[in-house]
Amino acid sequence: MLYKEPAPIKDRENPFESMMSRFNIAAEVLGLDEETYNVLKSPARQVIVNVPVTMDDGKVRVFEGYRVVHSTILGPSKGGIRYAPDVFLDEVKALAAWMTWKCAVVDIPYGGAKGGIICDPYSMSAGEIERLTRAYTASLVDLFGPDQDIPAPDMGTGPREMAWLMDEYSKTKNSTVHAVVTGKPLVLGGSLGRVEATGRGVMVSAMAAMDKLGMDPAKSTAVVQGFGNVGSWAAKLMAERGVKILGISDVSGAYWNDNGIDIEGAIEYKNAHNGRLEGYKGAEQMDPDELLTAKVDVLVPAAVEDVITIKNVDKIQARLIVEGANGPTSYKADNIINEKGIMVVPDILANSGGVTVSYFEWVQNRMGFKWTLDRVNERAERIMNESFERVYAASQKYNVPMRIAAYIVAIDKVAMTYKYRGGF
Ligand code: GLU
Repeated sequence: MLYKEPAPIKDRENPFESMMSRFNIAAEVLGLDEETYNVLKSPARQVIVNVPVTMDDGKVRVFEGYRVVHSTILGPSKGGIRYAPDVFLDEVKALAAWMTWKCAVVDIPYGGAKGGIICDPYSMSAGEIERLTRAYTASLVDLFGPDQDIPAPDMGTGPREMAWLMDEYSKTKNSTVHAVVTGKPLVLGGSLGRVEATGRGVMVSAMAAMDKLGMDPAKSTAVVQGFGNVGSWAAKLMAERGVKILGISDVSGAYWNDNGIDIEGAIEYKNAHNGRLEGYKGAEQMDPDELLTAKVDVLVPAAVEDVITIKNVDKIQARLIVEGANGPTSYKADNIINEKGIMVVPDILANSGGVTVSYFEWVQNRMGFKWTLDRVNERAERIMNESFERVYAASQKYNVPMRIAAYIVAIDKVAMTYKYRGGF
């Protein structure tokens, strides 16, 4: 079975600490005033729900879920919902704050939020997941809303769950409310290009960074850790630009091919095998820890938090890290990364293509008009490139790494908004 008991929280890194450590550095460089700092260091709202669900065997199980709203100063809060056995409140708090920074970096009118439910979706039936999704939605119906808080998919959730959420919410309002959630199936008002948007943005950021570093994509190699929606699309689109993807991995293990992995083939394989690469024969199996430190030019962590830590950062050989996942690098590893001269395109920039196209979905829902795929991709790519340049310019201006520069750009926007709105 792929399900593993989560490690006790005390044995894990704390993503909220990682977020705060970078926030503190950026706030200091920027000279952020104390009032705004104090407002932003804690989430505006944290909700814990316990929802009972009838399981297929007839027994009722109670699931713990969270929704954390970090900030609504820039607009309604936005952020995904994660279904995972080891999701915990400090993680959701960090993810919610990262959404605030992410939306500010790409300059879209949203605040930040995140949700999570402690469950193992891979061991539950579709009916159980549907009942869980509906129960969670029903318990948060007053918090959600197209002008209040707009959920989206994250790890363990996708268009199917968003459809149930929209339906459940709409029932309580006695009208169909498309714009309450993004990442919906196309027929329910989803946007063309949303499914691949995060991976596409990772590719666009990787290309922009390679350009700055004078790297030729057609002569570069990469590994992609995590082969879910983000990793598989990033790998496919980078390979289309000529990057040779030597290694990929998911929870079933890591896979390596000296000649480059046939990404289309690997995606077909995982789609036919319950979303997993287990048993994939197009590559050699390798130790997943060695995948991260393999000799390649580009490393794309696209799974969970804290995979690059003080335990392995010394051994990393890539020149460029492009963070498809949220928080894949522990703050304790930052100094060594900087000393080694590795460029990091940080999560809040590299994976912001997802929320950018979520924003387009919400805009289309409110206009009642559907954009073409070309329009979605062209606008998303423009936003990603402009945001990259903004962050790059800040890194030059303040002489800081790209990660701190991204926080500076984001915090500056939020602080300016507070200045104009005032009110505390
Ligand atoms: N869960 C995604 C993220 O972490 C998408 C959020 C959204 O589209 O609102 O960025």
